[in-house]
Amino acid sequence: MKAPAAPAVLAPARAAPAVLAPARRSAYDLTLEDLRSLSALVGQPAYRARQVWDGLHRRALRPSEMTDLPLALRARLTEELPAALREAARRTADGGDTLKWLWELHDGRTIETVLMAYPARATVCVSTQAGCAMGCAFCATGQGGFGRNLTTGEIVEQVVAAVRASRPRRVSNVVFMGMGEPLANYDRTWAAVRRLHAALGISARRLTISTVGLVPGIRRLAEEPLPVNLAVSLHAANDALRDRLVPMNRRYPLEALAEACAAYVARTGRRLSLEWALVEGTNDRASDMAELADFARPLGAHVNLIPLNPTPGFALRGSSPARVAEAREELERLGVNATVRSTRGARIDAACGQLAARARGGAARRPGAARSAVVGPAPVR
Ligand code: SAH
Ligand code: SF4
Repeated sequence: MKAPAAPAVLAPARAAPAVLAPARRSAYDLTLEDLRSLSALVGQPAYRARQVWDGLHRRALRPSEMTDLPLALRARLTEELPAALREAARRTADGGDTLKWLWELHDGRTIETVLMAYPARATVCVSTQAGCAMGCAFCATGQGGFGRNLTTGEIVEQVVAAVRASRPRRVSNVVFMGMGEPLANYDRTWAAVRRLHAALGISARRLTISTVGLVPGIRRLAEEPLPVNLAVSLHAANDALRDRLVPMNRRYPLEALAEACAAYVARTGRRLSLEWALVEGTNDRASDMAELADFARPLGAHVNLIPLNPTPGFALRGSSPARVAEAREELERLGVNATVRSTRGARIDAACGQLAARARGGAARRPGAARSAVVGPAPVR
């Protein structure tokens, strides 16, 4: 007996053309395959999709700038591949070497990106979520609560915007240290890492993921084929204090965190760094440095001491510059490499979430309030 025909199963219909415009997702949310089925490219020579892909990624061009394409095609692509990030504000500091954007997303949420230029290269710091659910006491993003996960394209597009602004300097490094917890948006963050590596040509050793210490995420990261750098935001090396400063510690206490970090280092061979924002009289005492050294030494970790940036929702003060310098020396004496992270961009609220917090007008979360509150005068640049 003949089996009933099942054409739908045997010959699946061609995927519907990818349509971006209504939702204003990022062009960078499309894969190369998606591009091939974009209506503007249907009927075009086969090499066009690859040409547009290279234009978007390797050359960081907008469709309107892809002068190797016919004019009519550029116009159609401009319509079908709109930018997902709309510049709501831009600030510069350090003589123009630090540039910070506040972007408004299609749903009115705001995120930040920071570009830091050095003599021969540049580093960009990207957000992975609008807001953050981790609730660290001292963090402006945490104080504002969680909005939503960013898409892969929204993450990648931040880097592309920085590449464009940084020219002729090359963006050599990307740090996932902006708003949000990258490992709480694991799949999209990792897809962004892969894209930055494969399509923008940024090597894994120049990509750094910073996490509050989500143990399952760290363990998963250790198994990925691309060994990226890992930064763990420690801030306290005893559970009682860390429970207070970093509430996620109650779920993943220090012992479990240390084990996951050790596994990461063993599996990837990458150096681990530990971030520590110094809070006066709270985690900057000699005893705190001794605990930190005990945590860092067995992991061979490097410590980054960060002068605390004041935020509206955290009453405690940052340590004085003199105390920050002493803390670094104490760590060195205890056999731990430590550097003081520069306070680049402090005047422009360049710390995590600060510009967006200001845009919200303090603690209240009002998506869309950014423009009136921040933009004010024209961009400084
Ligand atoms: N969620 C991730 C990455 C984003 S936060 C994480 O926590 O690691 C990026 C870094 O900024 C973290 O090390 C965080 O602890 C630090 N940070 C947040 N608020 C700060 C503040 N007010 N002063 C100094 N560092 C801060
Ligand atoms: Fe989230 Fe990182 Fe801020 Fe903590 S420090 S609230 S994990 S963004």
